[in-house]
Amino acid sequence: ADQQTWTSVDKYFDAALIGSDPVIVEVERASEKAGLPPISVSAAQGKFLHLLIRGARAQRILEVGTLGGHSAVWMARAIRSPGRIITFELDPLHAEVARAAVDQAGVGDLVEIRVGPAADGLAALVDEYPEPFDFVFIDADKASNAIYLDYAVRLGHPGTVIVVDNVVREGRVLHATDEGSEGVRRLVDMLANRNDVEAVAIQTVGERGYDGFILAVVGS
Ligand code: SAM
Repeated sequence: ADQQTWTSVDKYFDAALIGSDPVIVEVERASEKAGLPPISVSAAQGKFLHLLIRGARAQRILEVGTLGGHSAVWMARAIRSPGRIITFELDPLHAEVARAAVDQAGVGDLVEIRVGPAADGLAALVDEYPEPFDFVFIDADKASNAIYLDYAVRLGHPGTVIVVDNVVREGRVLHATDEGSEGVRRLVDMLANRNDVEAVAIQTVGERGYDGFILAVVGS
């Protein structure tokens, strides 16, 4: 099978299992109009995060890498009251587009967007000593994946679910030929050596190509 098939298969399942979702269509349109790169989760991946959160009955969500708010909207719609999301974004324009998107999607009061380098934002969050987070989605600069994973564990509790996106990178993870793949390999080394978090990597194909994610759960 090739890219065309993967995209068509996504379309087939999305039509049956997601259907038309004007809110999501509008979120994607706004990102495109603002010139943001087309690197958000797909609708299927967004719904996957949504269902994981519902299944775990997660209320406190952390996201690293907001972009235009696509994944944030999917996740916010899954939250049981009185939960919320804190999401970190480096680029002020991305944050602005995301702010408008989550407001327009009707979940604005559930989403707090913090602008700036996520590593600094996460360090500040640790100092705030918040209630632990139940679910973490790591999807920013891949070179910093291990740093973000470490913060996610510190800000979590036994049972916290962590998803790290784009860990396969069309197979480039095998050779560490780019900064992102090196970052994924550092993350994998860290996971292999820690006994306070268990993880697995799942390869995926679909409209976003050949990639994959790591699913981790805090607690030995
Ligand atoms: N999660 C988003 C979604 O699916 O809709 C996509 C996120 S996109 C793949 C990665 C985002 O991380 C970009 O918006 C980028 O500006 C942001 N980013 C890159 N480096 C960052 C950093 N050091 N701190 C915070 N955000 C960063």
